[in-house]
Amino acid sequence: MMGEQTLIDATEKSLWSQCLDSLRTKISDSALNTWFSALEVLESTSDEMVIGVPNGFVLEYVLHHYRAIIESTLESLLGNPIRVTFTVTTRGPHLELFQADARNPDARNDFGGFPASDVPWVKTRGPVRVEVTVPLNVNYTFDNFVIGDCNQLAHAACMAVAEAPNQNNFNPLILYGGTGMGKTHLVQAIAHFCIENETVRKVVYRTSEEFTREYIEFVQKNKDSRTFYQVYKDTDILLIDDIQFLAGKQSTQEEFFNIFSILHSLNKQIVITSDRPPSEIKGLHTRLLSRFDTGLLADLQPPNLETRLAILQKKSEGDGDGFITGDVLTYVASQVTSNIRELEGTLIKLSAYASFTHMAVNVDIAKQILGDTIRNVNQPVTIKRILDSVASEYSTTVSLMTSQTRKKNVAEPRQIAMYMARQLTDNSLHTIGLAFGRDYSTVIHSVKKVEQTLERDLDLKKQVDRLMQAFA
Ligand code: ADP
Ligand code: MG
Repeated sequence: MMGEQTLIDATEKSLWSQCLDSLRTKISDSALNTWFSALEVLESTSDEMVIGVPNGFVLEYVLHHYRAIIESTLESLLGNPIRVTFTVTTRGPHLELFQADARNPDARNDFGGFPASDVPWVKTRGPVRVEVTVPLNVNYTFDNFVIGDCNQLAHAACMAVAEAPNQNNFNPLILYGGTGMGKTHLVQAIAHFCIENETVRKVVYRTSEEFTREYIEFVQKNKDSRTFYQVYKDTDILLIDDIQFLAGKQSTQEEFFNIFSILHSLNKQIVITSDRPPSEIKGLHTRLLSRFDTGLLADLQPPNLETRLAILQKKSEGDGDGFITGDVLTYVASQVTSNIRELEGTLIKLSAYASFTHMAVNVDIAKQILGDTIRNVNQPVTIKRILDSVASEYSTTVSLMTSQTRKKNVAEPRQIAMYMARQLTDNSLHTIGLAFGRDYSTVIHSVKKVEQTLERDLDLKKQVDRLMQAFA
């Protein structure tokens, strides 16, 4: 038995070490030392290999840069195709969430015998029932939230709601603010607080997209939307994230309005987040909007330098190895000003580097590692940057795109760039036209054309979304 086990291990190792030997001829030594020394083979069969990586940062890098070459090398060694998957081996803490199914009759009863898939994730530990379609992020707690001038009111209102749902004047409580400002964090902190302190019996958290999907599935299964409220029955606190995605969805909005109205009239707490003031969401029914007026509207603004630094200090506490010094945090706080998610991402990148190389990060190293990110994050979006990125995406050049040629492989990216310039910058039609050597009416025509094409061509839409995302 033992012998067999060892034998299998030995074969695995030799396949992997053969692979490494072969990669040595294709990849530089420093890249091999940096990225490959951290990989470990967890499982290996003739057509699949599972490789463990120490953290998400390495995972992302290796996936992006080396997966293909690893697969093709293994394939040539084995003589048959092989699938390589990567998995992060160090796991963080997570809430125990159970799939609502026959093994968990408790959860089913509460929803009046609805098919289990209507309520996919139900936490049944302790007296508080939490209903979520995706697990809550365990880090999104009040304890981990840094308070600054930018978010003081929103934070206080959320605390008040969590401590005494149904007994405050903030119903509904509406949080709004740009992306990465902490809306999801705060709203999930309410859920965590309620679970911990048992201030309610049933908490429901949904993004409005999940709500929509759930509603559509419900109607397909039940052929009748009138009973949809049953899913939300007995909810003490309803948390709806990113309400803006309900814009333009008539029947879903109607259903949401019904549920909202019933819960509200029963004095149940409702908290909603939005990426802008609800009144500015086009395609949201006025009936719903006027209901929102009865509650409290609290905004989340971009944090100032002091708060950004406090957030970085808080986030780096956990990593306690002292690898990232105070002046690096100050440097990052001064450079990354746009949003907190970006701030956090930057820190994660630095921590990953530090824990990986076992080297302290000083400001010089931070500058090197973050050079590209920082430049991207804070640079204003200009027509020139758009032209550069579209030209490289479509393997053409800026000079062709701004020339008079009408060749399709240039005209198409040109129109897309005009469309993006219109969406992403404040330049006038006239200025955009000038940058492309065209007049403003050509810009209008191009933008319209792209808009129409995007509606039916989903592949193009994905591509353009991705291009635009790079400027977000
Ligand atoms: P939003 O939902 O507004 O787009 P998130 O709540 O997802 O933003 O926040 C983005 C990231 O920034 C999350 O990781 C969150 O923990 C963090 N974050 C935002 N605001 C704060 C804050 N005040 N203190 C600590 N972390 C924050
Ligand atoms: Mg969010």
